[in-house]
Amino acid sequence: MFTHLQKQDPQIYAAIMREEKRQAEELELIASENYVSPAVLETMGSILTNKYSEGYPGKRYYAGQENIDVIENLAIDRAKELFGAEHVNVQALSGSPANAAVYMAFIKPGDKVLGLSLDHGGHLSHGHPVNFSGMLYNFVRYGVEEDGIIDMDKVREIALKERPKMIVAGFSAYSRNMDWKKFKEIADEIGAITFADIAHIAGLIAGGQIESPIPHFDVVSTTTHKTLRGPRGAMIMCKAQFGKQVDKAIFPGMQGGPHDHINAAKAVAFKEALQPEFKEYTAQVIKNAKVLASELMNYNFKVISGGTDNHLMLIDMTSKNSTGKEADHALELAGISCNKNMVPYDTRSPFDPSGIRLGTPAVTTRGLKEPEMKILAKWINDVCSAPTDESVQARVRGEVKELCKKFPVPGILM
Ligand SMILES: *Cc1c(COP(=O)(O)O)cnc(C)c1O
Repeated sequence: MFTHLQKQDPQIYAAIMREEKRQAEELELIASENYVSPAVLETMGSILTNKYSEGYPGKRYYAGQENIDVIENLAIDRAKELFGAEHVNVQALSGSPANAAVYMAFIKPGDKVLGLSLDHGGHLSHGHPVNFSGMLYNFVRYGVEEDGIIDMDKVREIALKERPKMIVAGFSAYSRNMDWKKFKEIADEIGAITFADIAHIAGLIAGGQIESPIPHFDVVSTTTHKTLRGPRGAMIMCKAQFGKQVDKAIFPGMQGGPHDHINAAKAVAFKEALQPEFKEYTAQVIKNAKVLASELMNYNFKVISGGTDNHLMLIDMTSKNSTGKEADHALELAGISCNKNMVPYDTRSPFDPSGIRLGTPAVTTRGLKEPEMKILAKWINDVCSAPTDESVQARVRGEVKELCKKFPVPGILM
């Protein structure tokens, strides 16, 4: 592997080797990350990257598309089967551009949109002022209650008062199931478009573990690299009647040529997600998250909303007289990666918030199960109870490294 790169560019080669070592020897609890299979890796590294294919299968601007059309059609057909979607566009380059295309397809700059606020678990591309979405569209927001859970009566109240053209349901840091049907009912009362962003939970939906918005919603976007465990990218699914406008928004609206090597890797990942093993994997992701949350609560960590229905949880570190930044840093030194995160009604700032977000998709791909979640919770407690104690960090780092040897990362030969 990498024999050409090693000779030609030793600096980049060395950095990739160090990153392989880091990924192999550390535990990954960043909720949005995962490890792709060797087959997905191979496909991403293929000569498909050489091709330009502006347009769609059967309707391209350049010649030589006979193989690309086969690949893109396979990706589309598998995504349709996986999610029961009527229309799929697999060309979206990543989650944020996919969302930009959704807004472009359905609304105009200045139109009112209702979305979950970022500090209550929403995503930047759901109307944050520093993001294109917040600059171009008039976002109004719903949030969670003091208990960390969305109150759908409140959402309805805001929707009836504000009468947005579109309602966005979806999140990056919310650990409970969304009531898709209720969102749709509310939208129907005011004639709003329903848009679900399932970037985080797409794999759990594909694996049949949590309810899907696709039967109810007009349009659904997702990344392909989080719980869905495919290459870094995205796609948009919608009702057949909106297919043309969604496709036009992606190309020529937002993007130029599709990334054919990535779209092929999406097709490979979708085939993997259609196998019975993926159902088991996604069930284990949720089991692991539930065990990790309850073990942490036993150690007196405050888990927002008191647990989780999915792959992630938010921990309020004030329960340990600490902060998100301090905990995130101490855990990193101990070989455990996570991210600092705002908690609902946070009194601190986004750069120095009160919480951390933990997720189980990556460690579950490595094969960790309930017994290891208990060990993980103990390590997190040891490190976070003494966040400046370097001897604790060094001890846990060594123990993490030992455990990691038993659970290799797919695609990394060490
Ligand atoms: C991760 C995420 C995105 C953005 O995906 P990128 O590929 O990083 O652009 C969009 N929406 C939600 C809800 C996400 O969690």
